[in-house]
Amino acid sequence: MTRLSEEWRRTHYTKEVDENTAGNEVTVMGWVHEIRDLGGIIFVLIRDREGQIQLTAPTKHIDPEVLEMVKKLRKESVIGMKGIVQESGKAPNGVEIIPSEIKIFNLANQPLPMDPTEKVKAEIDTRLDSRFMDLRKSSVSAIFKIKSRMLHSTRTFFEENDYIEVNTPKLVASATEGGTELFPITYFEREAFLSQSPQLYKQMMMSAGFDKVYEIAQIFRAEEHDTLRHLNEAISIDMEASFMDDADVMKVLNDLVKEVIIDIKDNCKNELNTLEVNLEVPEGQFEVVTYDDAVDMINSKDVPMEWGEDLSRAAEKALGDMMDGYYFLTEWPTEIKPFYVMPNEKTPEKSHAFDLMYKNLEISSGAMRVHQADMLRENIAKKGLNPDAFGAYLKAFEYGMPPHAGWGLGADRFNMTLTGLENIRETVLFPRDRRRLTP
Ligand code: ATP
Ligand code: MG
Repeated sequence: MTRLSEEWRRTHYTKEVDENTAGNEVTVMGWVHEIRDLGGIIFVLIRDREGQIQLTAPTKHIDPEVLEMVKKLRKESVIGMKGIVQESGKAPNGVEIIPSEIKIFNLANQPLPMDPTEKVKAEIDTRLDSRFMDLRKSSVSAIFKIKSRMLHSTRTFFEENDYIEVNTPKLVASATEGGTELFPITYFEREAFLSQSPQLYKQMMMSAGFDKVYEIAQIFRAEEHDTLRHLNEAISIDMEASFMDDADVMKVLNDLVKEVIIDIKDNCKNELNTLEVNLEVPEGQFEVVTYDDAVDMINSKDVPMEWGEDLSRAAEKALGDMMDGYYFLTEWPTEIKPFYVMPNEKTPEKSHAFDLMYKNLEISSGAMRVHQADMLRENIAKKGLNPDAFGAYLKAFEYGMPPHAGWGLGADRFNMTLTGLENIRETVLFPRDRRRLTP
């Protein structure tokens, strides 16, 4: 097939070809979305990242060489086209292009592994098997344009609030917190693990005196269950800040979520339309429900839950039915929270831990942390873990560790709340679950 030579550069994305460009010569690049051959006239819809444009070839009135190229086209092939823009009442955007030159860069094999025109609905597994093609659908690429903007506005938020972006290791020697399963790997002659969370490292950055840090990176969890909200590889937006408590970092999280929503409403109008999502900016501060009240609320819906238990899926659903939008769940039992969570001073069976929920979905967990080495050592042992395995971490607490707090926000789950999607697999380009390791 044809290589890209110097004279072939895109002058316009399809959405930029409009009445204002009528009469001009343009060069567009894209995929053959549809071909309609009516004999005397051939219509070809060309699709690129931004939209579609109609190529119109009246067979008697165009260069025979160009006509020959048009006749060679197959669905989903990649082409370049130069031509004159012409107004047309019948064309999808009110304009069409009469081609003067066509380059075929890559002819697509037929039949296609799936239909990228959104006419035929496919199951998620079929779609993921041919994800590159699934992502050509505007309803799918919209999810990732929103995700990109979400990460952009998150970074902007942190930068504007003087946070330092950090990158902590993903190859680690020991478990962050026990509980969730880890993926073991072979590290030369030793066993190591894929990091389940940047928790210990972002805390060490507090001892390093960085004050306010954030990280956006992969977390790996050997979750065995097959759910619509767990993957084995996810993106976590993490922050940690010194001289702040749980209430302070809850406010940071609240502000971040609000600013991201405002930014996405402003900058992703087309994508939200494509997904038929009406995003609302939450008013005021998010509601706060204590764990104690949540237990009562859940029991009132005849879903059994004892004080001290984590929320079952049924409990999350019952609570989600009673709550609208985003809300915090606070004052969790110390017993079911990790060792680094600070217990309440007066009622140590309760802690300074919180979750941010969206309806029945947990999207973030955070807490004020324990910053005293002896208390940490004790807590680690109480959880049945070996304090010696945490030597490098504990050392950072023995030579000047400020009080601090932080949270981890699941980026993929946050994206689900922005796009109205129920299956986390939809919001990850190439999701990893127990059954899927390719593509
Ligand atoms: P859950 O109870 O839903 O399994 P968790 O409490 O184990 O989640 P945390 O350790 O609190 O998760 O992690 C912080 C955030 O990271 C979660 O609130 C969630 O948004 C995200 N997260 C955690 N595990 C996963 C996963 N397996 N897949 C996708 N996102 C995850
Ligand atoms: Mg959690």
